Amino acid sequence: MNTILAQKSKISNIDFDNLNFGEIFTDHMFVCDFINGKWSTPEILPYQSIQLDPSTSVFHYGQAVFEGMKAYKDDEDRVWLFRPDQNFERINKSSKRLSIPEFPKEYFFEGLEKLLAIDKDWIRKGVGNSLYIRPFVFASQAGVQATASNAYKFIIICSPVASYYASGDVYVQVAEKYSRAASGGVGYAKAAGNYAAQFYPTSLALKEGYQQIIWTDANNHEFLEEAGTMNIFFRINDNLITTPISDRILDGVTRKSILKIAEYSGIKTEVRPLSIDELISSKKEGSLKEIFGAGTAVVVSPIKGFGYQNKKYTLDDVDESFASLLKEKIVNIQYNIAEDPFDWRYEVKTTLE
Ligand SMILES: *Cc1c(COP(=O)(O)O)cnc(C)c1O
Repeated sequence: MNTILAQKSKISNIDFDNLNFGEIFTDHMFVCDFINGKWSTPEILPYQSIQLDPSTSVFHYGQAVFEGMKAYKDDEDRVWLFRPDQNFERINKSSKRLSIPEFPKEYFFEGLEKLLAIDKDWIRKGVGNSLYIRPFVFASQAGVQATASNAYKFIIICSPVASYYASGDVYVQVAEKYSRAASGGVGYAKAAGNYAAQFYPTSLALKEGYQQIIWTDANNHEFLEEAGTMNIFFRINDNLITTPISDRILDGVTRKSILKIAEYSGIKTEVRPLSIDELISSKKEGSLKEIFGAGTAVVVSPIKGFGYQNKKYTLDDVDESFASLLKEKIVNIQYNIAEDPFDWRYEVKTTLE
């Protein structure tokens, strides 16, 4: 791997106690180009702008996918990733669907570990502090032919995040008109365009006082599928319910980890479709105890209530919520605080050879 180090670190200018998510990036980035039918030698470079021709394919046809993962530091300054093999496999699954060439595993892990070793001082200790890692690939060939590109760039950038306390209750609106994903489409891929398509419906929901949308199935808007950009969980009585994976659902690492931890902790889980009718009837009879979203950025995001057909429903507070119990268990594994019975932690070698 070719490496060019930054001449001077930006780190002393960063106020780590006042970070907004995803605004600040570390000193270095990993870059690898696909040209002439193969991935070329990867490089680590000082974080910098990239110059692209205005006709570059990604600007016109949106051929781009990404990942989101985190690095954590424990009290002894050891650096950990959480199930990074899952992110690696998923970016290639996403790439395949978008007709982007798959990325070699050794490049991904060598690049990621070297980048983290170089920029390890950007990972702060303490639960909640972490380094958000954003691998992404896009079509980099110039020209507006509407075909898959012949050139791609695979890049990894990293952004420090501080422990974050959600302010206020989160209300979500159940989608009755718009859809996030359709059968046979790209919903299961972390495709850039999936996010673009959510911004407008989400802005309408915001105007009505909801922070997010619960996406429903595109056919009849009958079953609940995802919460914004997170997977969704429901607690009815003491059962934890989540939607099955399909080609419309993103196979979240947090989702599958929560299911495993819940089962391991003796919580009864059900992986099955849940309809809006069932949600409302369980709310009315008092058995709906919790709703929460699950994803890498916040692990678990409790939802206080939901809107459907111009009615707003509010959940009662629960003692000993599944949301906080499960969050704590995952976080303790991520930060090397608790045992890791599933072998999910991955230690990053931070000594540079
Ligand atoms: C990334 C993402 C998730 C969460 O996946 P994690 O691997 O848990 O971070 C869920 N839904 C959508 C639509 C996503 O893009």
